[in-house]
Amino acid sequence: MVIEVHVIGGGLAGSEAAWQLATAGVPVVLHEMRPVRKTEAHQTDALAELVCSNSFRSDDWAGNAVGLLHEEMRRAGSLILAAADRHKLPAGGALAVDREGFANEVTQSLEASPLITIIREEIEGLPPAAWDSVIVATGPLTSPSLARAVQSLTGETELAFFDAIAPIVHRDSIDMSVCWLQSRYDKEGPGGGTADYINCPLDKAQYDAFIDALITGDKTVFKDWESSTPYFEGCLPIEVMAERGRETLAHGPMKPVGLTNPHRPERPYAVVQLRQDNALGTLWNMVGFQTKLKHAEQVRIFRTIPGLEQAEFARLGGLHRNTFLNSPVLLDGTLRLKADPRLRFAGQITGVEGYVESAGIGLLAGRFAAAERLGSAITPPPLTTALGAMLNHITGGHLSSGGDGASRSFQPMNVNFGLFPPLAAPPPRVKSERGSKTLARKHALATRALADLERWLAGTASIAAE
Ligand SMILES: Cc1cc2nc3c(=O)[nH]c(=O)nc-3n(C[C@H](O)[C@H](O)[C@H](O)COP(=O)(O)OP(=O)(O)OC[C@H]3O[C@@H](n4cnc5c(N)ncnc54)[C@H](O)[C@@H]3O)c2cc1C
Repeated sequence: MVIEVHVIGGGLAGSEAAWQLATAGVPVVLHEMRPVRKTEAHQTDALAELVCSNSFRSDDWAGNAVGLLHEEMRRAGSLILAAADRHKLPAGGALAVDREGFANEVTQSLEASPLITIIREEIEGLPPAAWDSVIVATGPLTSPSLARAVQSLTGETELAFFDAIAPIVHRDSIDMSVCWLQSRYDKEGPGGGTADYINCPLDKAQYDAFIDALITGDKTVFKDWESSTPYFEGCLPIEVMAERGRETLAHGPMKPVGLTNPHRPERPYAVVQLRQDNALGTLWNMVGFQTKLKHAEQVRIFRTIPGLEQAEFARLGGLHRNTFLNSPVLLDGTLRLKADPRLRFAGQITGVEGYVESAGIGLLAGRFAAAERLGSAITPPPLTTALGAMLNHITGGHLSSGGDGASRSFQPMNVNFGLFPPLAAPPPRVKSERGSKTLARKHALATRALADLERWLAGTASIAAE
């Protein structure tokens, strides 16, 4: 007899994890606290409730990384994607759903499974010792008692309750004829490099215009229950810093000291620095640029920075209530907590961002837990797939400490093509609407991903039968 796996949290990730386990023939007990205890954002007692938008974003597998993730999840037998497809609404190239129909379908499918038992209860502390395999998928609004218990295992600073996100830029969209690589004072980091930062120079007029744009730019307001969001002095939004004084940024994250522009003789008035964000070197974050500016405003204002005129953003900035682990340090390659390997984490709490990404990590956690329970080898998906690239980012691909020794905090991330290993050779130009270089590259990455996914699925398909 196969012993059950416990899943805590019946949101996007927990529902998908439970489905994958049951599909593999493993019994599941799914513990969901709603309606016994509510969160600040959920409105119903349905499993997989969408707390805000009803969109799963682009459904274009060949041109958008989240569309590719949809396709991979469909092929991997995802319940979340099947329910989304069945309750799809007209939304152009996006996959938008009837939220009630979607959540009811997920709930009914899980309730109908003979291998799944659903218990409506809050798990208030660490799971009982008798539960030897547990998936924790309690999301960004994990109940405080469980969050505190997890914190007791991970350490005070390794579980965050708010994200403070700085924008991330694709390296190949930065104009290096304007910017240059250099660490402040050429200080050598632990990795031996003295040129760990990309520097973008601003003169006085550009700086003044930038400060004006920050102060007048359109900002997102906090929801009522988020209004206690602490502005940690170490990660104040840049517009708040600008409001405190026009020169605050020039003496803070944008200070020009210890840097020499090789392209021009005059000293810059201010400098924006970017630091490598992933091991592949394809993504760079804007240091100290956490912000509550609206996304469109961020793109407009940050593209006024010299060298970033054509910047493509892998992620834009934000500040939200969000419970998430420092996963690159805490989790192993199959999402288990190193400090207590019977606990596996899934969903937004692992540091992915978004409905689909959360469900995607739930899919992997469910498959890994099933393989473990059935005594099969666990094979993570190839790094070239959207599922594998995301998993790699949260369990190791993100650089968790700076090459210059600076502390670097891991912040949640949507899936994007910057997380994928580059192509071995540039793709041939394709005629058609996908004829541009960027689209041809995305198309080639997506085609490679689906081919590799198929090989991975073929190798793991026999888990249940073994
Ligand atoms: C306010 C808000 C708005 C968001 N809007 C969007 C959006 O528009 N689009 C988007 O893509 N992403 C959005 N996100 C981000 C994220 O994609 C969603 O939060 C997503 O639901 C995360 O999936 P999950 O499975 O990790 O967590 P959830 O879907 O939140 O599921 C976690 C579940 O665990 C339960 N739970 C918590 N603690 C316990 C406990 N101790 N015991 C038992 N059960 C417990 C909760 O009740 C919940 O059902 C938003 C997040 C927030 C907070």
